[in-house]
Amino acid sequence: MARSKQPLPETVTTASGFAAAETGDIAQLVEDLDGMLTRLRLGAIREQLEGLLEEAARRQLNLREALAWLCAAEVASKEQRRLSMAMTIAHFPFVRTLEGFEFEAQPSIDPAKIRDLATCRWVANGDNVVLLGPPGVGKTHLEVALGREAVSRGYTVQFTTAMELLGSLVKGQQQGNLEMRLAQYSKPKLLIVDELGYLPLEPQAGHLFFQLISRRYEQGSVLISSNRPVEEWDEVFGDQVVAAAILDRLLHHSHVLTIRGDSYRLREKRRSGLFRPPAGGSPPPIPAKET
Ligand code: ADP
Ligand code: MG
Repeated sequence: MARSKQPLPETVTTASGFAAAETGDIAQLVEDLDGMLTRLRLGAIREQLEGLLEEAARRQLNLREALAWLCAAEVASKEQRRLSMAMTIAHFPFVRTLEGFEFEAQPSIDPAKIRDLATCRWVANGDNVVLLGPPGVGKTHLEVALGREAVSRGYTVQFTTAMELLGSLVKGQQQGNLEMRLAQYSKPKLLIVDELGYLPLEPQAGHLFFQLISRRYEQGSVLISSNRPVEEWDEVFGDQVVAAAILDRLLHHSHVLTIRGDSYRLREKRRSGLFRPPAGGSPPPIPAKET
């Protein structure tokens, strides 16, 4: 490596342990550089330094280009780590993407609407999305896919089920730490609540859910899915007044998508011949839970 003609300023050489550059001690320079990259938390540059420098030389990059090239490698690595950390924190039950969603299989869904939701403008605005439809039509798939889009755009996301969420709030009330739990579920910019209406709720659950929805109202978005139409939510919550108050806030700035049609799971089974509808009869009963 070419030595600089001008001596480096003393502050640089002494404060950073960069003296090896002056003495030409390559082994020491490598060690110093490694130490400095560690100290600056530039892990990607540190780990790939040899390869990156070789590549920069092969491409005949000048110093400024080489520096930008090294920084780009670090930025990409940090972004990748942020993304995978945020995906872990979001607690998605599985990986599903919009690319993996077959729109032809579910004609009641407008692909343009989903593409619009994928821009996450609704998350930026604090709007809500309500996904309604029978089991197996892709509600959870879309929740996870839209949630991943939101994470990749830098929003904090938390995925939970209605049972888990309301169970936690009921427990919070019993244990005297409801406030902490409400605060926790109010934090993410997007809260995804899956499977409302599948299982009976505790009598106080509706009221607790109302408290959470009120807190998040116009602050953070809620993406909620249910197998029951909103007209039946008073039955779901066991209280007409509470259900109306929840819906009032939830639906104020919202996109409601009602998915109709066959269960994708059963469709797959039918295709593989594992499942046949009764001869000449009506369609088979649709199981309420994952098969
Ligand atoms: P729901 O939440 O409405 O009960 P899911 O989203 O769990 O349904 O869908 C059941 C399974 O079928 C999942 O594995 C999901 O990825 C898949 N699935 C559903 N609809 C589609 C679709 N249109 N394209 C691709 N996969 C789908
Ligand atoms: Mg589901």
